[in-house]
Amino acid sequence: MADQYDFDVVVVGAGFAGLYALYKLRNDLNMRVRVYETGDGVGGTWYWNRYPGARCDSESYYYCYSFSPELAQEWKWSGRYPEQPEIERYLNHVADRFDLRRDIQLSTRVTAATFDDAANRWEIQTDRNDTVTARYLVTAVGCLSAPNMPDIPGMDDFEGDVYFTATWPREPVNFTGKRVGLVGTGSSGIQATPEIAAQAAHLTVFQRTPNFSLPARHRAFLSEDQAKIKANYDEIFALTRESFAGFPFHPIDRKTMSVTTDERREILEGLWAEGGFKFLWGGFIDLLRDDEANEIASEFIRSKIRETVNDPQTAELLCPQGYPYGAKRPPIDTDYYETFNRENVTLVDISEAPIEVITPTGLRTTMAEYEFDAIVFATGFDAITGALLRIDIRGTGDVRLADAWSDGPRTLLGLQVTGFPNMFTITGPGSPSVLLNMPVAIEHHVDWIADCLEYMRERGWTRIEATEEAQDAWAEHVADLGEQSLFVRANSWYVGANIPGKPRVVLPYTGGQPMYRERCTAVKDSGYEGFVFGGSLDQNAMLAAKKA
Ligand SMILES: Cc1cc2nc3c(=O)[nH]c(=O)nc-3n(C[C@H](O)[C@H](O)[C@H](O)COP(=O)(O)OP(=O)(O)OC[C@H]3O[C@@H](n4cnc5c(N)ncnc54)[C@H](O)[C@@H]3O)c2cc1C
Repeated sequence: MADQYDFDVVVVGAGFAGLYALYKLRNDLNMRVRVYETGDGVGGTWYWNRYPGARCDSESYYYCYSFSPELAQEWKWSGRYPEQPEIERYLNHVADRFDLRRDIQLSTRVTAATFDDAANRWEIQTDRNDTVTARYLVTAVGCLSAPNMPDIPGMDDFEGDVYFTATWPREPVNFTGKRVGLVGTGSSGIQATPEIAAQAAHLTVFQRTPNFSLPARHRAFLSEDQAKIKANYDEIFALTRESFAGFPFHPIDRKTMSVTTDERREILEGLWAEGGFKFLWGGFIDLLRDDEANEIASEFIRSKIRETVNDPQTAELLCPQGYPYGAKRPPIDTDYYETFNRENVTLVDISEAPIEVITPTGLRTTMAEYEFDAIVFATGFDAITGALLRIDIRGTGDVRLADAWSDGPRTLLGLQVTGFPNMFTITGPGSPSVLLNMPVAIEHHVDWIADCLEYMRERGWTRIEATEEAQDAWAEHVADLGEQSLFVRANSWYVGANIPGKPRVVLPYTGGQPMYRERCTAVKDSGYEGFVFGGSLDQNAMLAAKKA
């Protein structure tokens, strides 16, 4: 059997997901695993996104792995929301601590993967001319890892410096004395704005759609904070696995309109003062389900923007209108709105007057021309499906994944795709993925995949595929919930609206973690209902004999 393919599993990507998949499949299942990673270091998101102000907005002590109590006890987070270098250090520590590097090939992009139907294995090609075979293909390519490079005429003509937040250079960039243009006000743009403004001679922020951003309230941890977290890790991790969105807290058990106006204000003020995602996931239970409740929270945030920003016209431009709070990924910031009170910062609304062209000296909108020494594009990602579809993946009958998904992705549980046997997609479309605190979603998926592979091994099976019927039922369920959710009501990357030509569908599963986990567990407990198994070790022996 060992001669028939090079690896039991090829994993694509070495971020949170790829590292844990390698650990789990190699250390617990004793499988031969090879990880390929485009970057020249591990860390995924935290390797690539080095822009000033890049930090997580889940809090450090639950934006981390839970699989190793020893790791949790020995690693010391410096504060509530560590910056990119600290998270990158953490993931490098994980790679070293669990001796993962020897099975990771860096600076290698997987370009193609083709399923060999007769042999039940994948043939994988890379941009370094490797061609290897593996029984299983596990994609850990990331939901936010395929940068969305803007297609604006004249991109190559600009004579100043151009930066993309998602592929920021390793060397620190110094904006001192420079006139900087920043395009995009999603999470990355919102994090970068105050940092660049503090250096630049002038910063011009180009905004198409304003976001509801919440104060992070970052602070350094004291040693007593760290001790308290470590003493409570079991409880913290348990809560992240049972809560709706993978955070260690539940919403309050009250509806917005069930309390008096004064109580409501007090609760919202409390959440605002606490900062971070508590406002979204730890507030009134009907926030994301009831329009009136959502509008009250939205208007509360707008009132905070108006209170913070001195110039009423700028404040109004920064106030989101026309879509519910939560329908776009809500950023968490440090002094974002305050930054617009600086003399050296200007906000330009490009919703009505879009950028027409990049010129040698700056850019031109349909209304005006601007001159810059540097332009920063914070234009986000081709989310959830982008990184998968940038690989030429071909399943049975040589069908391309890109064709199978031409009307939008269809999966069973976000874990497998009919017609692509033996391929597992960690945090794939149709799973909660980006709607969860992601390390929790990742660990859940990797554990589920490992259990499944163990189950197959015990029975000598070598092929697994989602049935069309089960996939259709799941895809319909995902679409139904998505259509009922508030996510359809904004033009966001959750629905692919930031990418021209991308089918508009709600990409993640919106039913929440508890329902999703229940379903995954039920499938597992039923002996993987909805999946068909095939192949056998006898078949392998026959193939080997034939080859010999
Ligand atoms: C700036 C930023 C902040 C974020 N903050 C949070 C947060 O606070 N909380 C949260 O829950 N989530 C956050 N996220 C989402 C974040 O992506 C996940 O939390 C997590 O890092 C995902 O890990 P991953 O391993 O699945 O993917 P990634 O970390 O994206 O890693 C995927 C890796 O796969 C590699 N890859 C892709 N295609 C190929 C290929 N064809 N061949 C070889 N290698 C390939 C990529 O190079 C990348 O290194 C944030 C994302 C960004 C961009």
